[in-house]
Amino acid sequence: MTDFAKLFDYQPEIVSALTKSFKKKRLVHAYLFEGQKGTRKTDAAVYLSALLLCQSDNPPCGVCPNCLKAMNLSHGNIFIVEPENDVIKKDQIEALLHELSSTSLFDGSRIYIIKEAHLMNAAASNALLKFLEEPHPQHYLILLSTQPHLLLDTIKSRVQTFHFNPISKKKMTKNLTDKGIEKDIAYCLAHITSSEEEAEELIKSGEIIDIVALAKDIQKAKNKKQDLYLAFLNRGRFLFGEGILVSHHQMFFDVLTLIVREKIKSVHGDEELFFAECLKNVDKKIETPDELIRQLEVLNKYQERLKYHVNMELLYASMFLEF
Ligand SMILES: [Zn+2]
Repeated sequence: MTDFAKLFDYQPEIVSALTKSFKKKRLVHAYLFEGQKGTRKTDAAVYLSALLLCQSDNPPCGVCPNCLKAMNLSHGNIFIVEPENDVIKKDQIEALLHELSSTSLFDGSRIYIIKEAHLMNAAASNALLKFLEEPHPQHYLILLSTQPHLLLDTIKSRVQTFHFNPISKKKMTKNLTDKGIEKDIAYCLAHITSSEEEAEELIKSGEIIDIVALAKDIQKAKNKKQDLYLAFLNRGRFLFGEGILVSHHQMFFDVLTLIVREKIKSVHGDEELFFAECLKNVDKKIETPDELIRQLEVLNKYQERLKYHVNMELLYASMFLEF
């Protein structure tokens, strides 16, 4: 079940453009909704479906049976194709085209949604071109994609494209803080992922909380001119434990980088500062702008090495010598 509040919050321009086209009877028969994960492309496809199927005078009302079924993706006139094992095959598209040619059980518009459409293989893409070449008045195709550059040009030239921008980091930080997530952690999450759902998953799995606390400890040790690797080992042994993935180490580097960026911002004295508690005792005579740039370079260099299978203890030991 989806509601449209998030969609209105994230993509007001797209909602307004779709609604306007609908009211002026200027909807086209094929759309491409493209943008990063978490930008509400599926919600927009559901919204367009509800617009087309709603029984009220003011669509989409969100409460009539058709709207409710659209929002549940259970309406008989909505057909969804999803990749299976990271590919959409010709027979999936042919099944869709077969639906098209058969008589509908329900009157009204029929909406075809293809998720991660760039995963169509060549045969599937060519089969889909048939649909695009012979549109039916009441049939609407919505392609969703996070990687539109992988779609055939012949497909892209036959669809109207909407680009879905991610919401600003600032807004996402606020949304997460409004849900009770601690400010610094919300800020980190907004920089680690563009998806609020993924951010909530990361909170549930817990490591991000330890990772942020660890990164703050490192800064506090820096303020006190203590040994950074020891400070790291004090709280950071969980990073060598079971279930820890490269992505967790990546997150740790991302958070350390964010803290250095906040220090750079504080030099300029602008914007709201995060990590205030660990930044209040920074020795600005040592942590000069040049020094902060050097810190970013060290983080960047070692973060690059995470791509290879390296011994993590050795990596941190040498990194904290340089950091
Ligand atoms: Zn309705």
